[in-house]
Amino acid sequence: MDEALARAWIAAVAESVRAEADRLTDLDAAIGDGDHGVNLRRGFDAAVAALDSFEAGGAGDVLGKTGTTLLSKVGGASGPLYGTLFRALGKTLRQEGSFAEGLQAGLDGVQQLGKAVVGDKTLVDALAPAVSAYASAAGDGEAAAARAAADAAAEGARATVPLQARKGRASYLGERSIGHPDPGATSTALLLAALADVTG
Ligand code: ADP
Ligand code: MG
Ligand code: MG
Repeated sequence: MDEALARAWIAAVAESVRAEADRLTDLDAAIGDGDHGVNLRRGFDAAVAALDSFEAGGAGDVLGKTGTTLLSKVGGASGPLYGTLFRALGKTLRQEGSFAEGLQAGLDGVQQLGKAVVGDKTLVDALAPAVSAYASAAGDGEAAAARAAADAAAEGARATVPLQARKGRASYLGERSIGHPDPGATSTALLLAALADVTG
């Protein structure tokens, strides 16, 4: 990924989050506190604004700056988690690691911080399969890998519907969290769909 593609990705995520903010917030109203769309819109709009005046030395800088901005602008659970994801991705790219390695480092950071595993009905349910799918398809090129990751994330988000939440606010609902998609898994699917759109 080069700097232009990284900038295009974050701009596309911001646009998608803006378009879907109400839906994300409705999903979070059902099993959380109804702020997920608002949180992410604020964060990615701030990231786009920060990047506007940011002299980056490559994609790693762009994604690291995005992570730092998300950490400082997005409250709740998702701010530190998405902040960690983008910072780890940025750091890996700055150190000449591959995008697949960066995604893996991001997932590791998210899991270290949030302690969620697949099946806990969190954004990890979309991110973990996306990271695996990207790595498996990486040999077919960036565009194919991004599309595979986006498809896996969407499937992972859909698969959260019948699950009972074991992490985050939704876990307070116990069995009443069953039957709804997880908001964070849904926004992770948007992130990867945006990646596939700008890469393909
Ligand atoms: P908050 O719940 O603090 O209001 P958001 O609404 O922005 O924060 O984000 C909620 C999402 O964060 C959840 O849908 C879930 O995907 C994700 N999440 C919450 N806790 C964790 C965790 N421990 N690990 C991974 N993801 C989590
Ligand atoms: Mg919330
Ligand atoms: Mg909140």
